[in-house]
Amino acid sequence: MTEHAVRERGIFVNRTLNMRSIRAIGYDMDYTLIHYRVDEWERLAYEHARRNLAARGWPVEDLVFDPTQVIRGLALDLQEGNLLKATRFGYVIRAAHGTRMLGYEQLRDDYADTFVDLAEPRFVFLNTLFSLSEAALFGQLVDLLDAGELPGALGYAALYRTVRDALDEAHSIGSLKAEIAADPDRYVELDPELVPTLLDQLYAGRRLMLITNSEWEYTQRMMAYAVDPFLPAGMNWRDVFETVIVSAVKPEFFTAHKPLYKVEDEVAGLLRPHVGALEAGGVFFGGCARQVEDSMTLSGDQILYVGDHLFGDVHVSKSQLRWRTALILREMESEVRAQREFAGDERRLRELMEHKVVLETRMAAARLDEQRVRVGYAEPLGRGAEASPDELRAQIAAIDEEITPLAVEAGSLRNERWGPLMRAGIDKSLFARQVERYADVYTSRVSNFLRVGPFAMLRAGRLSLPHDEGRMDTVDEGAESA
Ligand code: IMP
Ligand code: MG
Repeated sequence: MTEHAVRERGIFVNRTLNMRSIRAIGYDMDYTLIHYRVDEWERLAYEHARRNLAARGWPVEDLVFDPTQVIRGLALDLQEGNLLKATRFGYVIRAAHGTRMLGYEQLRDDYADTFVDLAEPRFVFLNTLFSLSEAALFGQLVDLLDAGELPGALGYAALYRTVRDALDEAHSIGSLKAEIAADPDRYVELDPELVPTLLDQLYAGRRLMLITNSEWEYTQRMMAYAVDPFLPAGMNWRDVFETVIVSAVKPEFFTAHKPLYKVEDEVAGLLRPHVGALEAGGVFFGGCARQVEDSMTLSGDQILYVGDHLFGDVHVSKSQLRWRTALILREMESEVRAQREFAGDERRLRELMEHKVVLETRMAAARLDEQRVRVGYAEPLGRGAEASPDELRAQIAAIDEEITPLAVEAGSLRNERWGPLMRAGIDKSLFARQVERYADVYTSRVSNFLRVGPFAMLRAGRLSLPHDEGRMDTVDEGAESA
């Protein structure tokens, strides 16, 4: 692997994770163990939902899924019919109404006193790649609603519920899954390094679990497709996972106490209520995370859960049960790549900003001196005396002309409309904030654990803070940088 590829497929650590002290590893299936080609999978889900809406008589025949319209980590604003990108503090830095991007002025007017608070029902966070079809469809329907083309007096929130229902129906009625399972080559991006990763963990004594919201029939078909061909002769995927839980209904799986069933007849999928421990080798349906801890006689910090859904897999398992968490973010590969390709411009941007900080500091001093001289209440300090405020203002304007195109480019890395997943301007994105809060580590795919192995100590790096030496925002007024 090249040095670049190693970086793209790194395991990024928020909180130190000692893999040796992990006794059990639970895996989510969809978009975690099994990665789908997002364009294909989401297009199909979108198509099924679109057809469900067409069946209600909605004029959606001409709608087409565009996978570049939305990215994970944005928030829907159900009050305004908007799609938002926010900083870690919830400040909105970019917005679209329906499919149309809002200009700066309108953005400022609409969101001057509104923060994105994910606890409010007004906002819906795009937690997973499954959200892309949903958000794309919602945006297009907002356009139709505004144009008066949707029947009934819907508001944006009601419209969203209709989209959800149409997608829920698509996911839960068998035809979408049947299409995927019938042609998995088209929808699944196989990873030959997945199985060696799991076997390293298995033979290091880790107890592996599969905990998925998918139904048993789909789960077994997809796992057999993605795992079995890569196993040594005589093994199948069931030999790798001590416990299999399907139809888990995460996030409630982590928060509620729900009845547990055993899949008695694995061919017919017959269920029987189950009490007591989850026996090794069995397939279970429903239940809850506490039963997993009790059956395995493990505490939360001995269990690592690996999933792609920021809320359903990682947020709740961390906040409710203190499980250790790994978030799978396939986007990190293109994110790191885009950042690397921009690195030269990034350096230039930084230099320009440092110079601008110096000029602004001088400008502030020159204005203060001007005031002191004008009013005559105190002696001028004589800092920044070499240039007048007007000259400094002109220099700052000249620098801004160089900064603006670079900043615009930085803000459209990886996605033209929305920019990077983890950054919002010079700040962290709201998504990045959620990741650092709830994911102990994050990485682009499960097989990135192959390189570090099951005995690794994954250490968090030292965090940089505004008062640290060498930070741009601590440049003192005497510093000259350009
Ligand atoms: P997991 O990621 O393995 O837990 O499984 C995700 C499951 O949730 C898959 O079976 C998806 O089809 C299903 N799913 C994803 N999005 C939706 C939705 O919006 N409504 C209903 N089911 C969904
Ligand atoms: Mg998943």
